[in-house]
Amino acid sequence: MSSRRPIYLDHQATTPVDPRVLEAMLPYFREDFGNASSSTHSFGWRAEAAVEDARERIAAQLGASPAEIVFTSGATESNNLAIQGVLGALSTVPHTVVTLVTEHPSVLEACRVQSTLGHREIRLPVDADGLISPEAIEAVLEEQTALVSVAAANSEIGVLQPVAEIARCCRERGVLFHSDAAQAIGKVPLRIDDSEIDLLSFSAHKIYGPKGIGVLCVRERRPSIKLRPLYAGGGQERGLRPGTLAVPLIIGLARALDLCMEEQAQEAKRLTELREILHDRIEAAIPSVIQNGHPTRRLPGNLNLSFAGVNGERLLLALGDLAISNGSACSSSTGEPSHVLLALGRDEALARATLRFGLGRGTRLEDVEQAAASVIQAVKDQISR
Ligand SMILES: *Cc1c(COP(=O)(O)O)cnc(C)c1O
Repeated sequence: MSSRRPIYLDHQATTPVDPRVLEAMLPYFREDFGNASSSTHSFGWRAEAAVEDARERIAAQLGASPAEIVFTSGATESNNLAIQGVLGALSTVPHTVVTLVTEHPSVLEACRVQSTLGHREIRLPVDADGLISPEAIEAVLEEQTALVSVAAANSEIGVLQPVAEIARCCRERGVLFHSDAAQAIGKVPLRIDDSEIDLLSFSAHKIYGPKGIGVLCVRERRPSIKLRPLYAGGGQERGLRPGTLAVPLIIGLARALDLCMEEQAQEAKRLTELREILHDRIEAAIPSVIQNGHPTRRLPGNLNLSFAGVNGERLLLALGDLAISNGSACSSSTGEPSHVLLALGRDEALARATLRFGLGRGTRLEDVEQAAASVIQAVKDQISR
């Protein structure tokens, strides 16, 4: 084992806090530590002013209004508030929630919990590229459908779903549409004002901000979207998410989003080029490699590859110089093969012999070159035996 730090290629799992984000947060840990709800002194006023400034900037970046921004602890909570909140606010059962088999566990589990409370869930399959068509969604909408939830970008295979079209078709049918945009926000062009998305979730730690803070954007509609809060408490965030606001984290989220949006087009181009170099090199040396997810409709920084005839565990062991995820991505602790790869029709062994490369802001050409060389060596060591 070398003592050098491995090359970080797991930016879909989390990202480092950008130094510019950390700088913006520091005063709110130190002198401006007030509770944004303290209305009797200047510590509280300053914290509140900073939070409201951050809220306005976040709203402006999304094309929303400040009143539509609800701060949460992250995308897991935002997804739960959207799904359990909408279904939990309905006084009659059963209503239906429609989602995809490839969604993040926080979406699938939130739907499952509601199905145990009398509602119904429909999990739609995706095509061989990991995509769903708006027509396939439309075909299952019915009178009792309350909500459709489809992630803008998949965290494992990086595919970009046609969320604007799906949102339009939901709107026409009077069904609410939620999108988990944890992977998409700041990475691909996505604003809420040029789409009919009703509810949008994201998280700061996927966009070079701190862990433990996220947003649920709830559009103002007539009739208004009714959400049942997940907790009872002191009425913060219009009662939708009570609890003392995480002021430094909120400031960090706003700064992180500003930076990602400013640099989005340029960074997307840079990462797409690096991803293509990585893919081309591996494919040239290992022609049997299989790409998971649509080849072009995908996140700039995501490449997901399966290696037939290779033992996944041994592959990962041989790649000690890379910090990378394998085909059990989100549930690596359980060792179960990824539900996303199985949904694409990969078998268990192939799902395990899969690598998810997550390129990001710190990734340089040398990193990609070394990653390609290491992967080629590790795979060849196994298949030439
Ligand atoms: C990371 C991620 C989440 C969970 O976000 P947390 O802020 O870690 O709770 C949900 N959905 C997707 C698509 C993600 O990538």
